[in-house]
Amino acid sequence: MKDVFCRIIEGELPSSKVYEDDDVLAILDVSPVAKGHCLVMPKKHYRDYLSTPKDTLHKVMDVAQRIGQAEVSVLGAKGINILTNVGEMAGQSVPHFHVHVIPRYLGGEGGFQLTMKSLDPSTLDLPVLAESISRGIKE
Ligand SMILES: [Zn+2]
Repeated sequence: MKDVFCRIIEGELPSSKVYEDDDVLAILDVSPVAKGHCLVMPKKHYRDYLSTPKDTLHKVMDVAQRIGQAEVSVLGAKGINILTNVGEMAGQSVPHFHVHVIPRYLGGEGGFQLTMKSLDPSTLDLPVLAESISRGIKE
């Protein structure tokens, strides 16, 4: 069964298109947390950020940057959050790689909160942790 983004890309479902080229589509989120909340995605199906080939990833991120710039200049956004979720546990609701471009304004309705709660670093062996992640990074 095709996911909702593949169905939008293939024209089976309507969307509010913001940008489109041969490889990338950007649409307005139908459940926006801010005015101008966009979703940028590759037209070819990849499950998530981690499984998307680099050339495609670069194209998607380039469009995300340009949309963010437009949201500042056209919508008067005071800030932008660029984020992508990998896996249901991280909040990925559609299994087709996409990047959220969320403009931020002073006051207003809706909203988006990103809260980072620090762990006690003394409970982690940071040098060993850094070393093991480092060893896992592929060329
Ligand atoms: Zn898909």
